[in-house]
Amino acid sequence: MSNMSKFNQPLGANDMPRFGGLASMMRLPVSSDLTRVDVCFVGVPMDIGASNRAGTRHGPRQIRTESCLIRPYNMGTGAAPFESFQVVDYGDIAVNTFNLHATCDIITDEIDHILACETIPLILGGDHTLTYPVLRSFAKKYGPVALVHVDAHADTSEAMFGEKVAHGTPFRRAVEENLIIPEKTFQIGLRGSGYSPEDYNWGRNKGFEVHTAEMCWHQSLTPLMSEIRHKVGPTPVYLSFDIDSLDPAFAPGTGTVELGGLTTIQGLEVVRGCLGMNLVGGDLVEVSPPYDTTGNTALIGSQLLFEMLCVLPGIKINR
Ligand code: MN
Ligand code: MN
Repeated sequence: MSNMSKFNQPLGANDMPRFGGLASMMRLPVSSDLTRVDVCFVGVPMDIGASNRAGTRHGPRQIRTESCLIRPYNMGTGAAPFESFQVVDYGDIAVNTFNLHATCDIITDEIDHILACETIPLILGGDHTLTYPVLRSFAKKYGPVALVHVDAHADTSEAMFGEKVAHGTPFRRAVEENLIIPEKTFQIGLRGSGYSPEDYNWGRNKGFEVHTAEMCWHQSLTPLMSEIRHKVGPTPVYLSFDIDSLDPAFAPGTGTVELGGLTTIQGLEVVRGCLGMNLVGGDLVEVSPPYDTTGNTALIGSQLLFEMLCVLPGIKINR
């Protein structure tokens, strides 16, 4: 079957045991050539924007390692991404680990290139700082985009330790630089201790819709996502998924843990609820392997990236 497809297929477990071979994302071919490539997975191995525990520089490599389990067909939704898209693992962006601002410029240049190739990037983080330079690229191509932001934190601080660029500030910068549409920005899963109500109100005052974790507890997020789909309409939308949105019972391997988070089921409902939107890119950030003793945080991250692939416009659904 796989050799008949016009698209790349993940290396099957009958061709190489899942624990063997090179650890590319979903055991896909690695390629820096994006000619006629619809979607690429791309890593951003950085943690120099993190404020508490570090370690997300190891995220992309560990997400790739754990992704070896993922099979090509989505049993839950019927999505068949490898009958729909040409997909490659584009490798990692060569960040400057000694210079955060240089790193941001490197990320923007690389995402500019990917978008110029008409390829949709799905990004393996990396700390959440990376979404700011990524959104700079998307805004150049599409104008300001709609945003679905899943996170325990608002990430709209004015500065951290006096620095305007850090993993707690990307969405403040994105508003100031007109990279996102505030009225079409949806934050889901926010919780924990803060400094003042201003932590969430800054975004609300700009037009963000804030859905705190408490508003999400004990319920399906499918109805919320259908409302969001309706509000976003045909506008290009970017999905930024911070793994710390999930409860630490599920995803402890991250730097800024908060209790009372989303379940993995709710995480799936959010990503699957993006089906039907004009999703133009996404990221999965803040997996920190040194704090991920079982590997399950990276594993969940890899599966959420697969789910993002399964909701991109043009996906074939087999039922
Ligand atoms: Mn974040
Ligand atoms: Mn967070």
